Amino acid sequence: MTDPLMDSYDVVVIGGGAAGLSGALMLARARRSVLVIDGGEPRNAPAAGVHGLLGLEGTPPAELLERGRAEARRYGAHVVTGEVTDAKREGHGDNADFEVTTADGRTVRARRLLVATGLTDELPDVAGLRERWGRDVLHCPYCHGWEVRDQAIGVLASGPMAMHQVLLIRQWSEDVTFFTHTNPEPSEEEAEQLAARGIRVVTGEVAALEVKEDRLTGVRLADGMVVDREALVVGPRMAARAGFLSGLGLRPTEHPAGIGVYLATEAGGRTEVPGVWAAGNVIDPSAQVGASAAAGAASAAQINADLVAEDTRLAVEAYRATR
Ligand SMILES: Cc1cc2nc3c(=O)[nH]c(=O)nc-3n(C[C@H](O)[C@H](O)[C@H](O)COP(=O)(O)OP(=O)(O)OC[C@H]3O[C@@H](n4cnc5c(N)ncnc54)[C@H](O)[C@@H]3O)c2cc1C
Repeated sequence: MTDPLMDSYDVVVIGGGAAGLSGALMLARARRSVLVIDGGEPRNAPAAGVHGLLGLEGTPPAELLERGRAEARRYGAHVVTGEVTDAKREGHGDNADFEVTTADGRTVRARRLLVATGLTDELPDVAGLRERWGRDVLHCPYCHGWEVRDQAIGVLASGPMAMHQVLLIRQWSEDVTFFTHTNPEPSEEEAEQLAARGIRVVTGEVAALEVKEDRLTGVRLADGMVVDREALVVGPRMAARAGFLSGLGLRPTEHPAGIGVYLATEAGGRTEVPGVWAAGNVIDPSAQVGASAAAGAASAAQINADLVAEDTRLAVEAYRATR
């Protein structure tokens, strides 16, 4: 962590993507002292632009976050680079604070925490796939469907959402091939749906992607057959980045849709640990940038209200002591 200006804050925001920076902006404008500690690896970093974001359509991810950092700093928030490795409670009852530790061994205290660390996309283990991620290998048609419209698209089945994904991407192209890969073959009902929508089904495990001149050209099966494709939709397992919260007793749990693990919270991002909120992909794997930013803002408002209640209680205690 590089030079935080104080060692104690109203709120430490862990993770400075859309959710964390939006929360920090709200809190700083609420005149709270705020420190954002950010690892600098937003989930959409490989993508050329952020799509589906009103008013900022197509902005490069790094530019969006740079603007967000500048906006939060304008109101006094501190934003530093660092990786949080541990968080624990210090003190007891109403006067408990949090102590946050970073990878370089520095600590900072906070009255409240906002966790906005996002998630890791665990990609299917297919040769050449990782290198194309966020380019012509994608997962979210609302993010990149327009960019691959009318192309020859493949869908690599690798989880419970495969049928949903293949029927969805059909909205963007008439040329869709469904690779069953490691999934079971489609049921009778599913096969009928695929046939009715003109989606070709290719059974057998996919071994590798074919790439020429930095473009996806095909999908190679284990038996050597190559199917020409220009884009491939995959379903990564999504894992909340929340290991550093175990000292607080907070652990990710299986997502009900079977798509990975997430941090379960109440509406508004309140976790089961008093004083700790969470927002963005760490609690909602399907949230896009706009929804993540909105969640960060909503959590920030709840955190500020909680601090106002505490400030009032402390003020009343002090007031009574003078009478
Ligand atoms: C390839 C791709 C393309 C996408 N395209 C779009 C799109 O076009 N439009 C759209 O709306 N959405 C898109 N998304 C979704 C988008 O990435 C997410 O909605 C968004 O990133 C969620 O924001 P977040 O703040 O929750 O998490 P993130 O943006 O992932 O930010 C989390 C931050 O926390 C940091 N962090 C993690 N752990 C720690 C730690 N221990 N200590 C400190 N910092 C930590 C990370 O380094 C990161 O900077 C795309 C996703 C992918 C994978």
